[in-house]
Amino acid sequence: MLTLKENQLDAFFALIEKKRELYLPVEQNTGKSEFKRWAEGDKYSTALRTTRSAKNFFFAKSENLYDIEMNDKKVEVIDTRKDCNDFVIFGVRACDVRSFDVLDNVFLADPVDSYYKNRRDHGLVISMACSKPAATCFCALFDIDATSPNGDIQAWHVDDTYYFDPITEKGDAFVEEFKECFTEADDAPVRKQKEETLNKIEKLPFVKLNLDGFATEEKLTELFDRPEWKDLSEACLGCGTCTYVCPTCQCFDVKDYKVSEGKTKRYRVWDSCMYSNFTKMAAANPRLTQTERFRQRFMHKLVYYPIKNEGMYGCVGCGRCLVSCPVSMNIVKVIKTMGDN
Ligand code: SF4
Ligand code: SF4
Repeated sequence: MLTLKENQLDAFFALIEKKRELYLPVEQNTGKSEFKRWAEGDKYSTALRTTRSAKNFFFAKSENLYDIEMNDKKVEVIDTRKDCNDFVIFGVRACDVRSFDVLDNVFLADPVDSYYKNRRDHGLVISMACSKPAATCFCALFDIDATSPNGDIQAWHVDDTYYFDPITEKGDAFVEEFKECFTEADDAPVRKQKEETLNKIEKLPFVKLNLDGFATEEKLTELFDRPEWKDLSEACLGCGTCTYVCPTCQCFDVKDYKVSEGKTKRYRVWDSCMYSNFTKMAAANPRLTQTERFRQRFMHKLVYYPIKNEGMYGCVGCGRCLVSCPVSMNIVKVIKTMGDN
């Protein structure tokens, strides 16, 4: 396996940044970690999770779609798309890597979202295995192995050494390009860490919840009509925090911004199905109550999405909504209440 000593990491980052844009988790003034563009002096944060996920790299928080110019009565639509620069995201956890698969099923399905694809094509993912899972982690419930994350290159941090294993063609090309940075070493420490971590994961409180009856059409109507949605949703403030931190949430809105007389930018921004005006249309609003909006979010992740996507759930068990919701409402409570747990 390829290795790099901890004290060589910054030099490795500097080399990558010379050729690509490099993004990685860095501890912020708040003590929390977020992905940011690496700059000299930045230290890679080994925190278990960033507050916000890595989805922004592919499904951008805000993105210009095209411009519209009007001169007299002539309307011109200007395609503002450009190939984005090649970039590397270092340190993506297994749950967030799976979230890219969830997003791919939406944005790369016919008709392909060219904005998303542009970023996917130019991004390279170096994932990082977990060794200290938190009690709020439950990726294993969705068959995600936090000790062997996907991505283009898998990485592990054991003691003072980083181990790397490329698993895609893109990953192979990358390690070939940066081969002078790595040395070969035995993978025994990685195997040991994996075993120890899997033992910890096995004991986490939510990894064995019962998902029976969720990802199936037979129980869809029954689940939809369950009276418990009302009680569960009662505390929900509709603040949307859970959807903004969630790596798999994919609601967006398209808006216009008047730049100057006759010139308008049409852009896409993240939105939230928890907001009261999300489904507001000229005809009517099909989800008038917070109970309906709350139910939609969880039915989508646990029922509608997996039915459409060969059983893949729309949740990756990252635990962000468990730590971020101001009223401590989350998908685990929904699974416990609605499932046979
Ligand atoms: S579930 Fe929690 S975080 Fe999500 S909208 Fe409701 S109050 Fe906000
Ligand atoms: S629903 Fe919660 S636990 Fe599941 S992926 Fe979204 S933020 Fe993570």
